[in-house]
Amino acid sequence: MKGFISRLRQGLGKTRDGLKDGLQRVARQPRLTDDAADELEEALLRADVGIETSERLLEALREASKRADTGAEDWPTRVLMAEVAATLNRSAAEAPTITAKPHVVMIVGVNGTGKTTTVGKLARRYRRSDRDVLVVAADTFRAAANEQLILWAERAGAEILHSRPGSDPAAVAYDGISAAKARGTDVVLVDTAGRLQTKVGLMDEVKKIHRVIGKGMEGAPHEVLLVLDATTGQNAVQQAKEFGKVFDLTGIVLTKIDGTARGGVVVAIAGELGVPVRFLGVGEGVDDLIEFDPAEFADALLKD
Ligand code: GDP
Repeated sequence: MKGFISRLRQGLGKTRDGLKDGLQRVARQPRLTDDAADELEEALLRADVGIETSERLLEALREASKRADTGAEDWPTRVLMAEVAATLNRSAAEAPTITAKPHVVMIVGVNGTGKTTTVGKLARRYRRSDRDVLVVAADTFRAAANEQLILWAERAGAEILHSRPGSDPAAVAYDGISAAKARGTDVVLVDTAGRLQTKVGLMDEVKKIHRVIGKGMEGAPHEVLLVLDATTGQNAVQQAKEFGKVFDLTGIVLTKIDGTARGGVVVAIAGELGVPVRFLGVGEGVDDLIEFDPAEFADALLKD
């Protein structure tokens, strides 16, 4: 666990550095001045915390400043940590328990966000807890995506079901569920396509996959995870809103947290969307996936 926390801290280093000066400036004064508040708000916006959320954070600082509970030098950090953790907790949810067999997880998101990589990392996670995993390649448009997924499944020790490029992705998903039922597989991970160019067509297609999975097994998919690229900041928030309109998202995976100064987007997503962030991607390796924890995240984001 300790290893995860230090990797999270490391991943959020750039974001934390971006907030440090603003926080120190606030801490140097007994009361929150307008100038210091403006400077900190700019830093929060640069970290992609989003306007709504940064205003709420500033309000918490103003209140604390009035109450004069600003004795210790790190008071702004403490106030923000509590507020960020509260924001993240509002949308937090227990990890779904696995009761169905197979437990079907559908992974959606725009291409390039790290969907395929995340499927591989998730497969590895389930394998580590001794579950059989079938990865289904329902992105039949990109031949390269198939190849990539085969490699990831191999790395993770999972089975894979793919089909010829151009075949019907919903049919592949259906075959995947049937195969998993026949084999008694524990977990099915369905990777879907995510071409941004033809957004409407894409949503229709992914909706169809969702529907067909439900036909293959009642109650499935049990989870719909949306993968978002943290480095795209407010764009990620926008994508979450669009996918949220179409699907009952059970969780969000924020990738590429490592090395971005925009890690605050996690707070914006939790604050504005109410969909729980479940995992963070902190690298390109098969084990670079961290289960999200609000308090740990607030600490790693703000505490020097
Ligand atoms: P897809 O098109 O959404 O399936 O995206 P891919 O899984 O192919 O990933 C796109 C790129 O992002 C690849 O170069 C991945 O190695 C990289 N990537 C994915 N997740 C992470 C992450 O958490 N951190 C970093 N640094 N890179 C990542």
